[in-house]
Amino acid sequence: MRVLFVSSEIYPLAKTGGLADVSAALPDALAALGADMRLLLPGYSKAIEATANKTVELELENFMGAGPVRLISGRTPDTRLPIWLVDCPSLFRRSGGLYQDEEGRDWPDNAQRFALFSHVAAQLALGRLVGDWRADLVHANDWHAGLVPAILTGSGDLRPPTVYTMHNLAYQGLFAADLFPSLGLRAELFAAEGLEFYGKVSFLKAGIRFSDRLTTVSPSYAQEILTAQYGCGLEGLLQHRAPDLVGILNGADYRIWDPASDIHIPANFTARDIAGKRACKAAAQKEFGLETDADASLVVYMSRFTDQKMADVVAASLPEIARNGAQCVLLGDGDRPLEEQFTLAAADHPQRIAARIGYEERLAHLLLAGGDILLHPARFEPCGLTQLYAMRYGTLPLVRSTGGLRDTVVDATESAIASGTATGFAFESIGAAPMLDCLGRALALHRQPLLWRKLQRQAMAQNFDWGESARRYLDLYQGLVPDARVAMPENVVAESPFEKAG
Ligand code: ADP
Repeated sequence: MRVLFVSSEIYPLAKTGGLADVSAALPDALAALGADMRLLLPGYSKAIEATANKTVELELENFMGAGPVRLISGRTPDTRLPIWLVDCPSLFRRSGGLYQDEEGRDWPDNAQRFALFSHVAAQLALGRLVGDWRADLVHANDWHAGLVPAILTGSGDLRPPTVYTMHNLAYQGLFAADLFPSLGLRAELFAAEGLEFYGKVSFLKAGIRFSDRLTTVSPSYAQEILTAQYGCGLEGLLQHRAPDLVGILNGADYRIWDPASDIHIPANFTARDIAGKRACKAAAQKEFGLETDADASLVVYMSRFTDQKMADVVAASLPEIARNGAQCVLLGDGDRPLEEQFTLAAADHPQRIAARIGYEERLAHLLLAGGDILLHPARFEPCGLTQLYAMRYGTLPLVRSTGGLRDTVVDATESAIASGTATGFAFESIGAAPMLDCLGRALALHRQPLLWRKLQRQAMAQNFDWGESARRYLDLYQGLVPDARVAMPENVVAESPFEKAG
């Protein structure tokens, strides 16, 4: 079962959010089940640098008018999975973010960047680029790879089946129609039954329209996106494709996110021996300039500061949270006005609120380990990983009941506490009042140490590892390619063209 897994982010090579974590852990779990997984990632400068065992597999002189393109093969640094990077210096080697420049503006050529990436993916899958390697199946992710199934549709008998995973419908890859001719696509694709979306080009629609199977990252979100509230205008098409759509919950990679072995935190701990968590809390308070107080309730908001994550509601609630006596740490980046609001709130309440604008892996681990409550509301949430990690660290997530948050966190109602099923806190409506009510409940329980310990133990005992979910993806693959052999990983490696290439 040769699978080309196409993603624009793979941890630790390139990451802006959960997509990167999933694109690292899921292929690894599938490889352990015997699928021959090959990753494809744009050749961002840092990603090329961090890739191990690099070889130039192929050089194309002037692909799609973007200048020279090289296909670099190598291995991911941690999981040692085979990876190809599409090295097109004019499109991918630049300082700034993966999708935006240093000022936070989308790169003006994002359409061309990910069209080229998708064309390379399709040619590779069809066996036209690397020796006799071709894919039995292509698994494409998010809008960045949405064109892959569309390109493959026109490729005749050799076309491998496609699975398309939507990690977040809010990011659609929508571009002006006049860019269409520069994307190297068949003219007939620009139509209502193709990838045209209200007069624009939609990469996401292309993926939804032309893939054999569709998945999204939680069962609840798979239902929600069929409605106007969550479908982002694509609900009609998604309803039409509903027989081919399935929600498979994301997993957590406990090799990276487990307080018993985490290398980023000052003290390790387990559910049974939680003493190290106190040290982590003290370190977090110190790092963020708050009083080192073991009894204070340390509330952590760590997210992209966007509408999705209700950052505006959190910002508006900060004075009230400070009045409640809790300590609050804010870590993240996103919409500039929200970043400023958070920074100002911290300046107004230096004893209670600390803010750090930025995306820092080490601090993410420290806060998950040191926090008491993860404030993690969302207007919509396809799956969400942070709340899964928080539970494992005994930091109780406080979420809005939506999408994957609904599927993974059990609200500490009286009956859930009594039955030992509660793992966090949840509220229903979008707004400051319901969120603050819920936080009030959480803070009240935090003042009852025995009860809190019980909740922590329950949360820490949850297992969201990839095993079951990876098996469901493999079943999906096997349904599409019944004849492909699933072999033990050792055999797969022995047959790999990477090994032949040296
Ligand atoms: P999303 O993908 O929508 O941003 P997820 O919860 O699925 O949300 O994944 C977020 C990922 O990014 C998690 O790995 C989380 O630990 C990490 N993260 C979020 N904010 C930060 C930050 N400010 N610094 C470092 N890592 C962060």
